[in-house]
Amino acid sequence: MAERIQRVLVVTAHPDDSEFGAGGTVAKLVKEGKHVSYCILTNGNKGSSDRTMTPEQLVTIREEEQRNAARVLGVEAVDFLGFPDCELEDTRESRMAVTAAIRRHRPDLLIIQNPNRSKLLGASHRDHRVAAGIALDCVYPLARDHMAFPELLAQGLEPHKVKEVYSMWWENPDVTVDISETIDLKLKALACHVSQIKDMAGLEKRIRERGAELGKANGYAYAETFDHIVIER
Ligand SMILES: [Zn+2]
Repeated sequence: MAERIQRVLVVTAHPDDSEFGAGGTVAKLVKEGKHVSYCILTNGNKGSSDRTMTPEQLVTIREEEQRNAARVLGVEAVDFLGFPDCELEDTRESRMAVTAAIRRHRPDLLIIQNPNRSKLLGASHRDHRVAAGIALDCVYPLARDHMAFPELLAQGLEPHKVKEVYSMWWENPDVTVDISETIDLKLKALACHVSQIKDMAGLEKRIRERGAELGKANGYAYAETFDHIVIER
């Protein structure tokens, strides 16, 4: 990763999304000395099939799991914006919350999900698409322009220009990141999401198969892939 990228913010919909889509890349960036933080839009309060679980308990459990996973990867901070799971909307409130996170963390690179619906239904979960759309609108123009959200400027959150965006992407990706040396950390971080995993061996098999498939064209044992937007050279 280029020198001009020092600070990275991963903006996703749910606790565990960062690890699934970019855990190996995050671990690699941290090993390269980059400062990586997370901003998670929803509280994940519907991600359970356990009829005895309450949404409130689940929020606490998933925040804890996410903090553990972030620690495994070396992520410095985790912001939970707390919007309800499966009900994320692109509103002034959600755009202002993400703009505030960008202005606070001041990332050179933003890693987001895929804003488009694809045939991969899990990856194109409604919250993922909405979160990615919000994040892109915050990169340009909302985090950049001082007159967007005057209340943020009043809080001392100065405008910020993100230089590049990686969007999690599997079909014809622009960027293939070799995660052969960090896939074990990715799996260890994923394993922290205990409430979300019924069969860790099965999950590991799927993650390794997908990683191998994404790396094949470049001769990498395992990879993660992204679409790439350069805003400022
Ligand atoms: Zn998700």
